[in-house]
Amino acid sequence: MQLSLTQDQRMMRDSIRDFAQREILPHRMDWDERQHFPRDLFRKMGEMGLMGMLVPEQYGGAGLTYYEYKMAIEELAKVCGSVGLSMAAHNSLCTGHILAFGTHEQKSKWLPKLASGEWIGAWGLTEANTGSDAMRMQCVAKQDGEEWVLHGTKNWITHGISGDLAVVLARTGEPLDSKGITAFVVERGTPGFSGGKKENKLGMRCSETAELVFDQCRIPQSHVLGEVGQGFIQAMKILDGGRISIASLSLGIAKGAMETATNYAKEREQFGQPIARFQAIGFKLADMATSIEAADLLTLQACALKNEGKSVTKEGAMAKYEASEVCVRVATEGVQILGGYGYTKDFPAEKYFRDSKLCTIGEGTSEIQKLVIGRELLRESV
Ligand SMILES: Cc1cc2nc3c(=O)[nH]c(=O)nc-3n(C[C@H](O)[C@H](O)[C@H](O)COP(=O)(O)OP(=O)(O)OC[C@H]3O[C@@H](n4cnc5c(N)ncnc54)[C@H](O)[C@@H]3O)c2cc1C
Repeated sequence: MQLSLTQDQRMMRDSIRDFAQREILPHRMDWDERQHFPRDLFRKMGEMGLMGMLVPEQYGGAGLTYYEYKMAIEELAKVCGSVGLSMAAHNSLCTGHILAFGTHEQKSKWLPKLASGEWIGAWGLTEANTGSDAMRMQCVAKQDGEEWVLHGTKNWITHGISGDLAVVLARTGEPLDSKGITAFVVERGTPGFSGGKKENKLGMRCSETAELVFDQCRIPQSHVLGEVGQGFIQAMKILDGGRISIASLSLGIAKGAMETATNYAKEREQFGQPIARFQAIGFKLADMATSIEAADLLTLQACALKNEGKSVTKEGAMAKYEASEVCVRVATEGVQILGGYGYTKDFPAEKYFRDSKLCTIGEGTSEIQKLVIGRELLRESV
């Protein structure tokens, strides 16, 4: 397990940090206020290799490991959680699904566009009535000769409107049959495919979240990813890796909130001294820092296993569960340390607080992570 960054990784971190300060920091509150999804930013991130971090160079990606991926999401999320979330969804979910289960032809067709940032990707599993319980999905795909006809709506999809391409999970078999779901690639512009309602969110407001709507949408057989009926099993594997990205996102937000609170505590004076000198505040900072480091170690462990090609079902869920809960606690304490100023938009503490909550919900809630961890523990003990 790699505990510190190599020279190359440090250089990469510095250039991402510099990019975030220059291209994101000046705009983040305006984007947040207007719920503006900064599409062009992701093209620039593509030029830096951030949109296909785990994609091999053969398919136009950066060919990096989960260590660099974790670090990059963290650096962006320290400045703006929404940018980190969009990057994570694009890389881990949409691009990751094609990378893991696509044929050479499918990878050659779509990955270079996604990895360069020319195209942005979406990944549709969730529906209005089926979130945690995804196996009951109602979006269906029926075979008609050499084509599939997709019908239904996916909800809460990152880049539901702006995504140039979506990987969509749809029912091709009986309800509740884990082998009754198939993954399809649907390109924007395909007749019968449109973006629907955009959500008005508490946090992560410049990451677009919207419906994907399919109205008798015809998809060629060549757009099926992997085998028919394997979509649910594929999706669970994709979420295993995706959870490392949400753990990294959580760490970035928590570290940003911690830095804001620490700087403020050193400068803000009450009763004739900086508030950092009060033990009550010092203890808060100590708890925040210790929790962040513990969650960081769990995340690094999951990265190490993933880099070795090992299963991360339990370790990814542990990292995601712990890091996201820590993120919410740290961001909440961050607001508390800033007092009244923490409750205003003059300081970023309130944005970290709002953004943090998504981390315990997206890609499986904390309750679902505990179910996954519990199941894995029981499997190990048999
Ligand atoms: C900003 C944002 C972006 C998103 N992006 C995407 C995306 O790109 N693609 C995508 O497919 N989805 C996406 N989602 C959806 C997200 O993954 C779901 O919201 C999440 O999986 C939870 O599903 P749900 O909202 O339907 O909650 P529900 O499943 O209805 O859960 C409600 C509550 O019940 C609890 N609960 C449910 N089942 C159990 C159980 N068995 N045991 C104990 N407790 C349980 C949950 O933990 C939660 O507290 C996104 C969501 C948000 C908010």
